[in-house]
Amino acid sequence: TKYNGKNNYSFFTQEMQMQTKRNLLLTNALHNAIAHNELYVVYQPQISLTTHKLVGMEALLRWEHPVFGSVPPSEFIPIAESSGLILSIGDWVMKTAVQQLKNWQTKGLHDVSISVNLSAVQFNQANLQHNIIQLLDESALPANYLEIELTESAIMSNPETAINIINQLHSLGIKISIDDFGTGYSSLSYLKKFKAYKLKIDQSFVRDITIDPEDKAIVNAIINMANSLGLQTIAEGVETQEQLKYLEENGCDEVQGYYYSKPLVVDEFEEKYLKGKK
Ligand code: C2E
Ligand code: CA
Ligand code: CA
Ligand code: CA
Repeated sequence: TKYNGKNNYSFFTQEMQMQTKRNLLLTNALHNAIAHNELYVVYQPQISLTTHKLVGMEALLRWEHPVFGSVPPSEFIPIAESSGLILSIGDWVMKTAVQQLKNWQTKGLHDVSISVNLSAVQFNQANLQHNIIQLLDESALPANYLEIELTESAIMSNPETAINIINQLHSLGIKISIDDFGTGYSSLSYLKKFKAYKLKIDQSFVRDITIDPEDKAIVNAIINMANSLGLQTIAEGVETQEQLKYLEENGCDEVQGYYYSKPLVVDEFEEKYLKGKK
């Protein structure tokens, strides 16, 4: 087929109009998602490479809409962020995840932490620490079981404030993981000012780790740097035994990925990790 300039143009504007329309529809729908019980949290296991046991899990948000079906986080999280809805949704995720871990602790799941993702918008919200303290208090969950995942870009959006907040959260006993580590820029000079706890090696470096010498070099550099700064490391997106073996041999502390498990709904998680407990 031959396209002339005009047809191309109208094709693009049509595409854009459809996209804009979908965004508007999704934004409206997202307003009611909590009230309509369309949101739920799945939990992806994090495994220690020393003990090969479950040591943590990441809470990941899911949205199932009656008309739009399952909308991926890569599509609705940006909408939640730009509309400000991420504040109420983020609070809901944090509350759900903290209460879920507390519930599993009473069912015999010990020494396992919960990681929750925080957007830049949430991170810069004035009453963040207050809300978190109150939630932990109400849920009777000790602060050291909570990890907060922040991306480098969220931190770099406002580095001075970030240093303050991170250090305050740290003094409460909450742990900070730097998510997607290696994909941002100026993080290195800031690392010594943060009381970060863990670096989360981005899955883009893990994917070809067994064959790509540059990815090997980057991952080894991150692990070595983390070791000398006293930080933990976790690799995300680990899908194969070969990747696992490489990370294990090169001193990575923990892994998360489809090799061990996809993110699990509550029932699946209980079936896999709580059977025979208590
Ligand atoms: P992320 O925080 O980097 O989360 C890791 C993503 O990798 C998740 O995608 C997870 O399902 C996926 N994943 C896990 N293991 C593997 C694997 O072995 N291979 C591959 N290819 N992928 C794997 P998901 O759940 O679709 O979430 C996408 C992003 O959406 C997250 O990236 C995070 O940035 C955001 N997100 C999800 N839940 C929340 C939330 O509650 N709050 C905020 N602020 N962001 C969230
Ligand atoms: Ca994350
Ligand atoms: Ca990540
Ligand atoms: Ca990511």
